[in-house]
Amino acid sequence: SAKSAGRGNFQFFIAEMNEHAIERLKLESGIRRAIEAEEFLLHYQPQFDGPSRRLVGVEALLRWQHPELGMVGPDRFIPVAEDTGLIAVLGEWVLRKACEQQVRWRHARQENLQVAINISPLQLRRPDFIDKVKHIIAETGANPQFIELEITESALTQPTMELVARLNELVDTGVTLALDDFGTGYSSLAILRKLPIDRLKLDRSFVQDLPGDAEDAAIASAALSIARDLSMEVVAEGVETEAQFAYLLERGCHIMQGYLFSKPMSVEAFDESFPPGRRLEP
Ligand code: C2E
Ligand code: MG
Ligand code: MG
Ligand code: MG
Repeated sequence: SAKSAGRGNFQFFIAEMNEHAIERLKLESGIRRAIEAEEFLLHYQPQFDGPSRRLVGVEALLRWQHPELGMVGPDRFIPVAEDTGLIAVLGEWVLRKACEQQVRWRHARQENLQVAINISPLQLRRPDFIDKVKHIIAETGANPQFIELEITESALTQPTMELVARLNELVDTGVTLALDDFGTGYSSLAILRKLPIDRLKLDRSFVQDLPGDAEDAAIASAALSIARDLSMEVVAEGVETEAQFAYLLERGCHIMQGYLFSKPMSVEAFDESFPPGRRLEP
């Protein structure tokens, strides 16, 4: 009958939920264990100044070198880390590692490389976050002018005065701020103007169908003109083709990140591929 079928579905649903819950529990204890076992690492994806084709910075991207699963990407564990609060520990680890790496590169390359670090909305909301940032910068000796914190647009769509004050405090430490996933949230020009942000990172979803897709072209152009009006820079994410690169460059997007140039990679691979002074091939 329909009734028993319904109950069957319900039981199936419960079973599936349990499986999901168990999966999450496993992940949660896995994350805790992995922090202890030092299984997390950062990969770095280079960013280039389009017109000069010079390397200008890198984005630090978290990876989990799992003993059984191999390299696990952040989309699989960051949401669980956020829901369980583990993101605080993990985020602090990322901040410290990325700052240490910036110092290492400064010594090895005799120049500063800007290092961009993803910050979870949850981290940003913690009252001790600013102190953590200050502390880690002081401890590692990182140059805050070359540390960029990436904050997702979704974290800032309705910023409270407290949050705006916090962003200003962050900028007072010397770091710069970038708005990640730009275009996927709903921040208005009015909101953007209030925020001490240097850069907008145009989300990959608006880049991937350029130049053919008219809607994405309109969004990319709008993002670029908003940025120009607010004296912000735009970083295009997920640039994979020469056509996308040319389109963006022509419209004043100067900083490019994407597989066309390079995937995120280990420090060792990065140092080999991008020794000091290297430009992209013209
Ligand atoms: P995101 O910050 O927007 O990072 C850009 C993502 O796009 C990265 O994925 C990068 O590998 C990918 N990407 C870059 N260029 C291309 C391209 O040309 N084609 C394609 N298909 N993809 C490209 P990844 O490393 O898997 O990271 C996913 C997301 O996980 C990040 O998105 C960020 O939101 C989050 N994440 C990564 N590391 C951290 C971290 O340390 N802390 C926090 N809170 N979040 C992180
Ligand atoms: Mg990012
Ligand atoms: Mg992004
Ligand atoms: Mg993204």
